[in-house]
Amino acid sequence: MADKKQRLTTSHGKPVENDLNSRTAGAQGPTLIDDVHLLEKLAHFDRERIPERVVHAKGAGAYGYFEVTHDVTKYTRAKFLSEIGKRTEVFARFSTVGGEKGSADSERDPRGFAVKFYTEEGNYDMVGNNTPVFFIRDAIKFPDFIHTQKRNPATNLKDADMFWDFLSLTPESIHQVTVLFSDRGTPQGYRHMNGYTGHTFMWYNDKGEYWWIKLHFKTDQKIRNLTREEAAKLAGTDPDHATRDLYNSIAKGDPPSWTVYAQIMDPQDAESYRYDIFDITKVWPHGDYPLIPVGKMVLDRNPANYFADVEQAAFSPGNFVPGIFASPDKMLMGRLFSYHDTHRHRLGSNFHLLPVNAPKAAGEQSYQRDGQMRFDGNAGGGPNYWPNSQGGPEPDASVAPPPLDLRGMADRYAYELTDVDFEQAGALYSQVMTDTDREHLVGNIVAHLGNAQERLQYRQTALFYKAHPEYGERVAQGLHLDVARVKKLAAMTQEERVKATAAGAQAAGA
Ligand code: NDP
Repeated sequence: MADKKQRLTTSHGKPVENDLNSRTAGAQGPTLIDDVHLLEKLAHFDRERIPERVVHAKGAGAYGYFEVTHDVTKYTRAKFLSEIGKRTEVFARFSTVGGEKGSADSERDPRGFAVKFYTEEGNYDMVGNNTPVFFIRDAIKFPDFIHTQKRNPATNLKDADMFWDFLSLTPESIHQVTVLFSDRGTPQGYRHMNGYTGHTFMWYNDKGEYWWIKLHFKTDQKIRNLTREEAAKLAGTDPDHATRDLYNSIAKGDPPSWTVYAQIMDPQDAESYRYDIFDITKVWPHGDYPLIPVGKMVLDRNPANYFADVEQAAFSPGNFVPGIFASPDKMLMGRLFSYHDTHRHRLGSNFHLLPVNAPKAAGEQSYQRDGQMRFDGNAGGGPNYWPNSQGGPEPDASVAPPPLDLRGMADRYAYELTDVDFEQAGALYSQVMTDTDREHLVGNIVAHLGNAQERLQYRQTALFYKAHPEYGERVAQGLHLDVARVKKLAAMTQEERVKATAAGAQAAGA
């Protein structure tokens, strides 16, 4: 008889006598309902899929560590950053954004870059992208924005009209659109891209002083991108190329790493700085705020099971530890709500107990109890309320972030669109990109925008022109648009431009 360890059982532990033939009444059947093993097997199979993430559905992940290489204790009291040489276990997940779980890794898209640090003071999540900026700067626009990057409700097809209609009506997207349509929108693999917090965050020390910071994870494998043609080919020949590349490099003992830097700004400077530092469509130019080295992240361990760790991984930009906190960025505020809300929907209210999500270095001592799938001891017989005088865990006021003076009249405030909103996209085009980068950027835009209605091509190309005249002219030429009309549209206010490019407006001549 087989050893007990090797014996097949039902999910309830009963040995299974046969897993190839169901119990039937006679050789021809029908199948008997007393074959409870069969019923359970089918029932569990029917429930194998959990909802895929609405965004960032396709991803790959790995474990590793973060090591401090430079002293930043002046700026933050975060314990995991307290000592040069200190190592903290991490789990990182990389992803595309708009595509479904089975979509190609080479799609043009920002890439998610999320890292969970299992620190002794709780899990700290850095939930960024491979681009330092974002399309929008107010979370109220996010569901609409994502709808336009997904499928047309009638055709279930990706739709260039939806895509460019929204973006051209959302001119603050111009910087991110420029990054996205550069070859950085199709990285050669997850190992060959940087990660950025994008948002500004707060670092504070134990003296109550604070700074505004942004983190940059720079790949040690060098940035490598695919051309549009290479990306299209890979989508057919190896749609999982980035997942495969990450897994194989770790499996063969070539662990990827990233050097981590911070940009650090004195809060006094923020008030007079030429950019709104809580606007995620802007970077802090390196010339103003140089990159300060902090540490190194190495990913050297593949998960033993994809579903357990990668599919069930639950990140949130709201997972802070003492020494790190939010800034008032309006886009970040929405994310502070949405991430854990999504996890409760996808994984259940006790998603934080799953091994990949649990605060394994800190432990959990809270008064949260019960809920579906509470699969630990539910904190036993300890008190389940606070305050209590029964020796339950107590809040520690010393970990609080410094008070922030935030005041204002409650209202809905629009950002005023100004030339500053086009400046950084223009700088990227004219000062950072090489001739080849610019040629690919224009080609990538033309190949995509060319599928949208002509009036949308005009509206969007006017925005490229506003970022930099040569940029707009080259896109216009590629699309065979009238450059004079593009210039005229670029000189208008956004309101006038929208009116001039409304359906049927062209006949009236803009
Ligand atoms: P710098 O010349 O100091 O930095 C430019 C940075 O741009 C590089 O360090 C690199 O950042 C990044 N970069 C290089 N090539 C590309 C490309 N083809 N597509 C996208 N990014 C690229 O200039 P500034 O700091 O003054 O910034 C100028 C512009 O560079 C910005 O407006 C922004 O568009 C872009 N940029 C700036 C970043 C910042 O945090 N300051 C970060 C990334 C881009 P990296 O090594 O991080 O890839």
